[in-house]
Amino acid sequence: MEKYVEPFKIKVVEPIKVIGPEARQKAIARSGYNLFKLHAEEIYIDLLTDSGTSAMSDNQWAGIMMGDESYAGGRNYFHFEETVHDIFGFQNVIPCHQGRVAENLLFQTIAAPGLVIPNNSHFDTTRANVEMNGAEAVDLLCAEGQDPHLVASFKGNMDVDALEKLIADVGVDKIPAVMMTITNNSGGGQPVSMANIRAVGEICHRHGLPLIFDAARFAENAWFIHQREPGYRDKSILEIVQEMFSYGDGCTMSAKKDGLVNMGGFLALRDDALSERIRNLLILVEGFPTYGGLAGRDLEAMARGFREVLEPDYLRFRVGQVEMLGEQLVEAGVSILEPPGGHAIYLNAGEFLPHIPPQEFPGQSLAVNLYVESGIRGVEIGTFMFGGADPKTGENRTARLELVRLAIPRRVYTNMHMNFVAQSIIALHEKRDTLRGMKILKQPPFLRHFSATLSFLGEEAASRTQA
Ligand SMILES: *Cc1c(COP(=O)(O)O)cnc(C)c1O
Repeated sequence: MEKYVEPFKIKVVEPIKVIGPEARQKAIARSGYNLFKLHAEEIYIDLLTDSGTSAMSDNQWAGIMMGDESYAGGRNYFHFEETVHDIFGFQNVIPCHQGRVAENLLFQTIAAPGLVIPNNSHFDTTRANVEMNGAEAVDLLCAEGQDPHLVASFKGNMDVDALEKLIADVGVDKIPAVMMTITNNSGGGQPVSMANIRAVGEICHRHGLPLIFDAARFAENAWFIHQREPGYRDKSILEIVQEMFSYGDGCTMSAKKDGLVNMGGFLALRDDALSERIRNLLILVEGFPTYGGLAGRDLEAMARGFREVLEPDYLRFRVGQVEMLGEQLVEAGVSILEPPGGHAIYLNAGEFLPHIPPQEFPGQSLAVNLYVESGIRGVEIGTFMFGGADPKTGENRTARLELVRLAIPRRVYTNMHMNFVAQSIIALHEKRDTLRGMKILKQPPFLRHFSATLSFLGEEAASRTQA
């Protein structure tokens, strides 16, 4: 029980208006049954993402008031730089306003056509930045990570044999860097073990390749190592984090996750010459190197967030809250990706709604029904998001899994909110046979999940008759 208890008390509250199922039905119909088009105020519990949705602490808000808004050399930059240096260990610290800018600056500089970037799993913005610069993004996720039912400790690991083979096949000259995403976001927020990080680091350095971490959820990853990997129970989270990064040469960071801020990020590197080139680009796109697209106060909040996120009480609650939601669902027979990762629960909509085929978007039906019934917003990650016509063959593709992701914002919702989420999903599960499939009425040529409009099957005809 203790691991789930909130390690904070609430000093400021943000009221949420609850609008009731009929108003929600109207809101979602107006939005074309697309949850991205709702007004956030029409939602009771918003689990769309854990990115930039954290609640800051009183200490961070106090830091906001200590912002030094000098154009160059503001004191908050030096505090931020010293903090990143101390925790992550890299001497060159380049601030930017979010993680994808760090990726953009890095890959603009090191990626080119004909080159290959391996990763355990590329996050979508990482892949896009690699590919936009003409290089190939290759995922080398371990076999365990690909089985949605297998309960294993480190399902985010990279397949090290596959990495060796890739290096042998394409040659070191074609690989400007190896990436490692901790925790593995696209792989369900599953952690990477210290043994795997060490092994990948060893391979990289034997071949003279830099290892760059995508560090968005570095503290959650360290917590899993602390809990699950032999030999780490007596180490502090800071010591574990320092060891993780000691095997690498740099990192990209979206501080909107484990920075506990609403906006911010950085790129940090050991390589001085590469950093010099990137700082010159930074001035072009984000600003002077001591603010990088952020206000001084933002840098201060980030510096303070990086310390707070290492607190064991915070991490025990954070990862525990996600786990508790998962446990309640599993106990009630709801199929989720197991074990729960660090930041989200993924409902297995394909198994939740076996009577709805992928082409009728079971995940979207589940997400929309969950919103209408209970005011909870998750996001479909399945055929609605990834399907559609193959650009090469024109064939209609389906996703490997039909999922609904419930990402949990940090320090925002209480365990009672999470109980409500669990009970709502369980209630929907009990009447799952009544849920219907959906069809797309209108869609853009790409990234359709953001703007397409849909309807429930059978409903379209009914509304035409009424009209
Ligand atoms: C969010 C995220 C990014 C991109 O960061 P933004 O701050 O959203 O630009 C990159 N990698 C991972 C693993 C992420 O979760």
